[in-house]
Amino acid sequence: MKSLNVVFLGQAGSGKGTQAAILKKIFSLWEIDTGTVLRELVKKPDYFGEKIEKVMAQGKLVPLWLAVYCWLDLLMNVPEDKGIILEGSPRQLEEAKILEEVLNWFGRKNFRAIYLKISDKEVLKRLLARRLCSQCKKEYSLILTPGLTQCSICGGKLIKRADDNPKAIKNRIEFFKKNTLPVINYFRKKKILIEVDGERPIEEISKEIIKKIKKDKKGK
Ligand SMILES: [Zn+2]
Repeated sequence: MKSLNVVFLGQAGSGKGTQAAILKKIFSLWEIDTGTVLRELVKKPDYFGEKIEKVMAQGKLVPLWLAVYCWLDLLMNVPEDKGIILEGSPRQLEEAKILEEVLNWFGRKNFRAIYLKISDKEVLKRLLARRLCSQCKKEYSLILTPGLTQCSICGGKLIKRADDNPKAIKNRIEFFKKNTLPVINYFRKKKILIEVDGERPIEEISKEIIKKIKKDKKGK
């Protein structure tokens, strides 16, 4: 059976991470998370790290070459028979085309893009309520656990991510519309897009995604 290769598209806070984790388990996919690589780079106390941090804090996109570097480095270590799951990339059309080219070159022809759709209002609401454990980095939502201040796993202090402030969120929404919507439209035209309403219970969303992936496979 051909390995499944998936990219998750959607605004920050759309539940990409949650759904990616479910899919990863079910189809035993290798996760490629550009955001994690970027946040690791930001932690470095050098000029490069500081520059990336500044760009991200403004809610801006990192340069195309840097985004490609982040996922390509991870992708090259994935065994041939394993499928992959990408989260946080591609965020712009040029990046999507490079990704398509790379996947083709590696013979990863079974490629699907999943779009988790949520409204701008919901993005703002979810991101302002998002907290991160300062120790183990587990994500929490104050919508689900109001008033929580400590990580329920390690006891670490919960903090807000630097880019979860109203101004940066607004910038990210604008950037999504300008840069990522063209990616979504591009994949839709290629008929590899699976579009799902992201403002529903987690289980309902994942059931629909899995059903659509399996249906697509049968159709081939
Ligand atoms: Zn923790």
